[in-house]
Amino acid sequence: MENDDKRILELEQQVQKLQDELKTANRELTQKAEALEELLGKVHHVDEEKVEDLLDSVKEQERDYKNHYDALTGLPAYHQFIDMVDEYLLMHGKKGHYCVYSDFSNFQYLNEVYGYEEGDYVLQRFAESLMNEYADGIMFCRVTSDHFIGIIYEEDLEQAKESYLAFTSEFTKRCNEKYDQCNLVIVSGIYEITENDRTVASMLDKANDARKMGKEQKVKTSVVPYTDQIKYQTESVKHIVGNMVSAYNNKEFYAYLQPKVSLKTGRIIGAEALVRWIRSDGTKMMPAQFIDIFERNGFITQVDFCVLEQVVEYLEDALLKQEEVVPVSVNFSRRHNETKGFVTEVFQCLETHHVPNNLLEAEVTESVFMSDLSQLDSNLKKFRSQGVEISVDDFGSGYSSLNILGKVDVDTIKLDKQFLDSAAEKENAVTVIKYLIKMLKHLGFKVLAEGVETGEQLQMLKEADCDVVQGYYYAKPMPIHEFRQFLKEFNQKAVG
Ligand code: C2E
Ligand code: MG
Ligand code: MG
Repeated sequence: MENDDKRILELEQQVQKLQDELKTANRELTQKAEALEELLGKVHHVDEEKVEDLLDSVKEQERDYKNHYDALTGLPAYHQFIDMVDEYLLMHGKKGHYCVYSDFSNFQYLNEVYGYEEGDYVLQRFAESLMNEYADGIMFCRVTSDHFIGIIYEEDLEQAKESYLAFTSEFTKRCNEKYDQCNLVIVSGIYEITENDRTVASMLDKANDARKMGKEQKVKTSVVPYTDQIKYQTESVKHIVGNMVSAYNNKEFYAYLQPKVSLKTGRIIGAEALVRWIRSDGTKMMPAQFIDIFERNGFITQVDFCVLEQVVEYLEDALLKQEEVVPVSVNFSRRHNETKGFVTEVFQCLETHHVPNNLLEAEVTESVFMSDLSQLDSNLKKFRSQGVEISVDDFGSGYSSLNILGKVDVDTIKLDKQFLDSAAEKENAVTVIKYLIKMLKHLGFKVLAEGVETGEQLQMLKEADCDVVQGYYYAKPMPIHEFRQFLKEFNQKAVG
C-alpha cells in the first residue's frame, strides 16, 4: 500500500513535470509562432512594398520610354528627336545637313490587302533600314502613321537627294516584290539646312512642303528638293487661308456666268456660274489659285453657297422683271456630301427667292464618283426628283470615266477641254470624240463640250452631233450684269 502511494506520488510528480514542460514548450511555441507571424507579416509587407516600388518604377520607365521613343519602331519620339537634333546641330554645325520628310503612298492598300500586322512590319523594317543605312540612327523619327522625318549628312544637296532616293527606291522595290498587289511608293521632300534656320520644326516644315509638291504625282518613289518656287507657293497658300474668311465677309467672292450654247438652235440655253475672288484693290484671283486649297480645308462649301445665293438673287430679279432666263449650273464640291442637309439648304435657298427648281443645275466633278457613292447617290436622287438637273463635270480628265457611266443617274455629261486639246494634235482623237459622243447619247445623256475656242472645233462638234458647247469661242465667264445683257442680245440675234 505504502509502495503504491509512493508510486502514485512519483507519477503525479512526473505528470506535473510533463505538464510544466508542456506549458513552457507551448509558451515558447506561441512565442515562436508569434515571432514567425510577425516575421511573415514583415516579409509580406516588405514584399508588397518592394513589388509596388518595382511596379511603379517599371511603369515610370515605360512612360518615360513612351515619351521618348516610338513603341512600334523604337525610333525617338518627336520631342526627343527635336531635342537630339538641336543638340547635334549645335555640336556639329548645320553645314552639310539635310532634313528629309518621307511619306508612303498606297500604304492603306497594304494594310487592307495584307493586314495591319504586315503594315506594322514594313514600318519597323523601314525604321531599321534607316538606322542601318544612316549609321547615326538617332536622327530619324516617325512623326505619325507612315510619315518619317530625319536629318542626314552628305557632301551636297544633289548627293543627299541621290543617296536618299537610292535608299527609298531600294526599300520600296523590296516591298513591292513581297507585296505585289500594292504599288508602295515613298515620296520625300528634302531641305538643305542653312545657318539662318532657327528651329528644327521650321526646317522640317520646309522638307514637308517639298514632299507635298511631290505627292501630287505619287506614282513613283521620289525625293523633291525645296525650292524658291515651293517657298512662294506655300507662302501664297498661307496668305489665301489667312484671308479667306475676311474676304467672304467683305463679299469678295463673285459669281461670273459663262453661256452654254445649243448647237441645234444656236441659242444660249444655259450658263455656268464660276467664282472669282476680287480683292478690294481690284486684283482678280482665278479659281485655280484657291479652289483646291478650299477643297482641302472645307471652306469651299461656304463659297459654293455664296455663288448659289448670287445666282438665285439674279434669277429672282430677272424673273420679276420678266427678262428671259436660262438654267444656271453651280459647281458643288464633293465636300457637300459630308454635310447632312446640304440638298435641303439648296432647296430652301431657291424657295426663299421664289426661283423654280428647274432653273438650277448642279455640276459635280467626275472624280467624285470614285469615292463613297452612298451619300452622293442619295443627294443626286433628291435633286433630280425635284427638278434640279445634274451634270458630270470634267468627264475624261480622270481615270474613272467609262466606269462611272453605268453607275450614275445624271442628265448631262460635260466633256473635258482635254478632248478638244488632244483633237488638235491627233486625227485619231477626233474619231474618239465622235464615237464617244455617239455612245453617250445612246446611253441617254445630253452631251456638252467644254473649252470650245475655234470655229474648227465647233464644226467638228456639230458633225459629231454634240448637243451643247461652252467656251471662249462664244464668251468668257462674265459678271452677272454683263451676262444679262449678253443673253438678251445673243438670243435676239439667234432668232433673227
Ligand atoms: P469647270 O467647272 O470645269 O469650269 C470650266 C473652266 O473652263 C472655267 O475655268 C472656265 O472659265 C474655263 N473655260 C471655259 N471655256 C474655256 C475655253 O474656251 N478655254 C479655256 N482655256 N478655258 C475655258 P475657271 O472659271 O477658271 O474655273 C476652273 C475650275 O474651278 C472649274 O472648272 C471648277 O472646277 C472650279 N470652280 C470654279 N468656280 C467654282 C465654284 O463656285 N465652286 C466650285 N466648287 N468649283 C468652282
Ligand atoms: Mg463646272
Ligand atoms: Mg469642267
